[in-house]
Amino acid sequence: MLEQEKHYWYRCPVCGKKMLYLREDTVIKSFPGYCKLCKSKFLLNIEPSKEPECQTVKS
Ligand SMILES: [Zn+2]
Repeated sequence: MLEQEKHYWYRCPVCGKKMLYLREDTVIKSFPGYCKLCKSKFLLNIEPSKEPECQTVKS
C-alpha cells in the first residue's frame, strides 16, 4: 500500500488565496512569496512544528 503524503495549502495572509502547495514536513526559510491576486510580497519562514512566520515586504 502506498503511503499517502500529507500536503496543505499555504494561503495568502492578506486575501486568503492559495499561494503554495506544501508538504507537512516542508521547511521554508526566507522565501520570497508573492500573491498574484492582491500583489502582496512576503518573506516566509515555515517550519512544520511552528506557526508560519510571514513578513510583509513593501515594494
Ligand atoms: Zn493575496
